Amino acid sequence: MNKDLICAIANPPGVGAIGIIRLSGIGALDLVKKITSKPTRYREACLVSLKDEGELLDAGILISFKGPSSFTGEDLIEFQGHGNPLIQRRLINYFCRNGARLANPGEFSERAYLNNKIDLAQAEAIADLITSKSEAAATAALKSLRGDFSHEVSNLSRRLIEARVNIEVQMDFVEEEIDHLAISAIQKGVEEISQQIKKVIKQANNGDLLNRGIEVVLTGEPNTGKSSIFNALAMEDRAIVTEIPGTTTDALTVDLVMDGLPVRLSDTAGIRAATNKIEALGIEKAVKKIQDPSVVVLLVVAATQVDPIDISARLGELSGRKVILIINKIDLQLKHLPEFPVCTIKTNALTGLGLNRLMEALPEISGYDSHSTEFMARTRHVDCLERTERYLEASLGGLRGEKILELIAEDLRYASESLGEICGKYTADDLLGEIF
Ligand code: GDP
Repeated sequence: MNKDLICAIANPPGVGAIGIIRLSGIGALDLVKKITSKPTRYREACLVSLKDEGELLDAGILISFKGPSSFTGEDLIEFQGHGNPLIQRRLINYFCRNGARLANPGEFSERAYLNNKIDLAQAEAIADLITSKSEAAATAALKSLRGDFSHEVSNLSRRLIEARVNIEVQMDFVEEEIDHLAISAIQKGVEEISQQIKKVIKQANNGDLLNRGIEVVLTGEPNTGKSSIFNALAMEDRAIVTEIPGTTTDALTVDLVMDGLPVRLSDTAGIRAATNKIEALGIEKAVKKIQDPSVVVLLVVAATQVDPIDISARLGELSGRKVILIINKIDLQLKHLPEFPVCTIKTNALTGLGLNRLMEALPEISGYDSHSTEFMARTRHVDCLERTERYLEASLGGLRGEKILELIAEDLRYASESLGEICGKYTADDLLGEIF
């Protein structure tokens, strides 16, 4: 294992009251002893001056941890000095001249994982916590870091291994000696695990959505009120609103939170035959932008010239996507429109009528349920859980059908391995490279 001495500035770049530097690995404690003004005790905050051969480098609070009782599991130093980048750089230079090297991004967490201080899902939760885009997401990441998700997974892992061991016990018997009551009990156990995995898949999907957030694109013909709705949701006048069609040429984006879910909302150029080159470029961007969002919000106005067949055709073009149809300008309600087979909301962008419903509908249509947020997750976790579930279904097929014990045991082993990938029990090196 890599135990060389690493150091890094732990605070964001720039000026601040306090600047934090961490050192971890072999030699951390000796190096600090060499430059501190007085001896320090482990796990105690000490006010020290750091000196390079008598010359003062900085003064502040130093906490030293003797491995394995530290975040990384190694000897670790945390120094809280002054938040001046020049002072911090001078200290880092000193450490690097004296045996340390700059840490790679995520290397402290990687060491914590490699030294079994945290599992892989918890290490991922640290990164997700730092980059969370809503309070709900941060809370969910904290729960994952605390181990809520990992405990659920290890519980299920333990039950899966039990089931496989029980099957393997039966494999040692000749056909006539097989205990069919025991096999039924194993089947019942695997059915329960499968039910629980389905529940966890739902929660993990929710956590993954919370982690990634959703992309929402407003589209429709010019003058239907896209920029007005964009501004109303953004609660500021970002997009230009005029009665002149074709004013939005560049896609505008704003980050919002709806029911705890991070939402990136984009206003695009109205799609029509362009009247000039700039608008044409804007329309091209708008068409690209609606290729792959989580939700497309199509705006129409019930004006006399609007043909419901055209609206159906637009909805047809968007089939396969998650679509919300907005009938805007209902204060001018000029024409009765038929019902369309998608979620439809009537709005008045000038007064805000209907916009609350839109803010509820966006998380709903994405499949997000704020009440079932138990922890933060990633798409990788959902994949592992779904694979586990497929192997469980295969093993249940065997248990209910031909009862070929070797095959059932093999499916249960694959299920265990897939589940084990979440916390890093079975993990390929390239995956670690992606995570850290
Ligand atoms: P966009 O081209 O689709 O972005 O549409 P805008 O947001 O620029 O709006 C075009 C015009 O319609 C502006 O004059 C808006 O004030 C007006 N407008 C937008 N929403 C409504 C609405 O609900 N009712 C009425 N009466 N006018 C609206």
